[in-house]
Amino acid sequence: KKAAWAKLRDEPSVSADGKVFTTAANIGTPKDLPGVIENGAEAIGLYRTEFLYMDSAELPTEEEQFKAYKEVLEGMQGKPVTVRTMDIGGDKDLPYLPLPHEENPFLGYRAIRISLERTDIFRTQIRALLRASVYGDLWIMFPMIATLPEFKAARDIFNDERAKMQTEGIPVADDIKLGMMIEIPAAAILADQFAKEVDFFSIGTNDLIAYTMAADRGNDKVAYLYQPYNPSILRLIKFVIDAAHKEGKVAAMCGEMAGDPIALPILMGMGLDEFSMSATSILPARALMKQLDTKQMADLAQAAVNLSTNDEVIDLVKQTLPELG
Ligand code: PEP
Ligand code: MG
Repeated sequence: KKAAWAKLRDEPSVSADGKVFTTAANIGTPKDLPGVIENGAEAIGLYRTEFLYMDSAELPTEEEQFKAYKEVLEGMQGKPVTVRTMDIGGDKDLPYLPLPHEENPFLGYRAIRISLERTDIFRTQIRALLRASVYGDLWIMFPMIATLPEFKAARDIFNDERAKMQTEGIPVADDIKLGMMIEIPAAAILADQFAKEVDFFSIGTNDLIAYTMAADRGNDKVAYLYQPYNPSILRLIKFVIDAAHKEGKVAAMCGEMAGDPIALPILMGMGLDEFSMSATSILPARALMKQLDTKQMADLAQAAVNLSTNDEVIDLVKQTLPELG
């Protein structure tokens, strides 16, 4: 199997019937680049920049951030790189940025909610990204967007910094894509409206599943409710993909589900454009895609969203594709 996968390293990600997808990698630092290249990623679909903040004794400077972003963009040699602005809070806190104690950190002050209040921190990150943008194909996305005004406020700050840098004579790429994570059910449900504003969506299933099922995967007592294939989740995902496509926008996914062999046939059938996952999952995913027919997978997806339970969906996929085991 390993040898067969290795052959796919420089191949595109295509279904049996010739539909082209993108298989991309999730990374946390420029140090992950060798694994990304080795596994033949066609893009970076999620660069989690919070590690820059967490691996530092103080707020990373614009220069430090610029260097990291430039390294990743250059390393990818013109392939798309989606950088997510910092997602601090929840379980990730910073010693130098004291956050208030919260009863429910995952429902609290986190990610874009911090960025829109601490605009000093956010503007520094945006400036570093803008400066790095000339070294590759930069896509920027905002985490934990719940409302349209949040997205617009973040975009305004981006546009403001870009305008400033242009007056300062600092070169900036003119085709930077701006998008958002869909990881809060409220945003998924209004995806048709968000789709008019964004260049792309990236579905963050790790959080989307937890927030939709109101279940923390890390809590043994309720882990059984963390159900990626629950038809409620699948319907949300389908709605988001369709909403993006109605506006001619890209629908990506960067949660664990994107690299999951049970989910992948369904997601192909729904027409997800980009699958972003751990680098080591890319070649197996590409190999699986090659075997599947998108029209058959569309039927599979349609049947799946009409089932009632997570287990029924697993059984359906395994019956339809016995080779998955
Ligand atoms: C997600 O929520 O699916 C996601 C990709 O973001 P993170 O895992 O970093 O919260
Ligand atoms: Mg998330």
